[in-house]
Amino acid sequence: MSRKRKTKIIATLGPASKSQKVIEALYKAGVDTFRLNMSHGDQDGKRELIGNIRAVEEKVGRPIAIMVDLQGPKLRVGMVKGGKVKLKRGQVFTLDLDQTPGDQTRVNFPHPEVYSAIEKGHSVLLNDGRIRLTVEKAGKSAINCKIKIGGDLSHHKGVNLPNAILPVGSLTPKDKRDLQFALEMGVEWIALSFVQRAADVREARKLIGGRAGMMAKIEKPAALKELEEILTIADATMVARGDLGVECKVEEVPIIQKNIIHTARSMGKPVVVATQMLESMITAPMPTRAEVSDVANAIFDGADAIMLSAETAVGEYPVEAAKVMDKIAAQIESDPAYRKMLRQEALAGTPSTDDAITAAARQVTRTLGASAIVTYTTSGSTALRAARERPMAQILTLTPNLHVARKLCLVWGLHTVKTKDVRSFEEMTGKAKRMAVRHGLARVGDKIVITAGVPFGTPGSTNVLHIVEIKSSDMTS
Ligand code: PEP
Repeated sequence: MSRKRKTKIIATLGPASKSQKVIEALYKAGVDTFRLNMSHGDQDGKRELIGNIRAVEEKVGRPIAIMVDLQGPKLRVGMVKGGKVKLKRGQVFTLDLDQTPGDQTRVNFPHPEVYSAIEKGHSVLLNDGRIRLTVEKAGKSAINCKIKIGGDLSHHKGVNLPNAILPVGSLTPKDKRDLQFALEMGVEWIALSFVQRAADVREARKLIGGRAGMMAKIEKPAALKELEEILTIADATMVARGDLGVECKVEEVPIIQKNIIHTARSMGKPVVVATQMLESMITAPMPTRAEVSDVANAIFDGADAIMLSAETAVGEYPVEAAKVMDKIAAQIESDPAYRKMLRQEALAGTPSTDDAITAAARQVTRTLGASAIVTYTTSGSTALRAARERPMAQILTLTPNLHVARKLCLVWGLHTVKTKDVRSFEEMTGKAKRMAVRHGLARVGDKIVITAGVPFGTPGSTNVLHIVEIKSSDMTS
């Protein structure tokens, strides 16, 4: 099965989509990568989901990527009397270390490690930013605030501290246990939540040790200040608009989205746009016009992948949501404006043989009207280079490594196939032609462009560019 679009789709699994049947329907609707959110449920539940995804992969005969999204140091308040209290504008409110249930005047904030980072004048946001407080006095065991925008506060609601750089890493003890679990399960991507600094990503990179790709979620203003350094270390990034929209001014989010996409693209790192893309489809079979425009704009911005969260995890229409994304992406990508944007976004490569060959491959497909670029890759880096060029031709990636084949499923434009390694030039061209036709990316009579590294099978540089025409006799050899 080959997709009719280049932008990839990620779907979060949850109670609405945990069965093998729904996962298969989601895959068929267009999902390329499944996300497991460690903020909800336990490892046993996730193990079952991974089993179901792998069973679907076996059935459909195509690689599928799995991303484990670590919870990160999400801050929360404790319990409140009667399950809910009303905070009124203008009144004073205190966050403290007292574990007794809170009321209209105070609540437990059980994170002693962050008190020292809070200063007078900082904002404290509760319940996804719905309630807003301003700090009047910050102490070691109590933070006295004035309520700027009131509202209902219930048990364990989230707390955002957008002005503070918190003295915590982005991996909590729970995250480290979940990371270990994810690596043991052999997942392809680990998403790191609440990254604040490059050091957070460096620490995670050490623990992951190359066993999975690392995606840095950008959702804190502090991370924006070190974006380039973070992206140098990470393998990919996510515009995590949920918390980003709470931590930053909501009207800044579209600009931040464009900046993150542009920075990631220029560094050749895959970038995902996430959260509330088709939010209304949690309860409705159709998206709003504004949501369709939002998905379209993320594609126009140049994202590698677009993500569904609650829509597929807990929504009533998970498969329909994936179908809607698939249709929007196919429509946008067929528009001349999208092609023009891709041409304008053409990136200057580094002065390396690999980049020169990949840029040339794109140019050759345009000059000759070739149908596909076929990349042979061991580590995945040649394929990433090809995707970074954003060619209009199809990109077929052939790799002997199943983990690499799966991992590349969230990268723009890559149709990846796990296949035996080739040992000679003849094998290389023969297999490329047969696979391109078999996977519907080229036809007999078409030209294709092949890139590879010689000697075969050694990860390293791409040093071959070969142009061939597919003949009918190639299909039988
Ligand atoms: C987000 O905040 O946008 C996000 C993707 O993270 P989470 O869903 O884990 O809050």
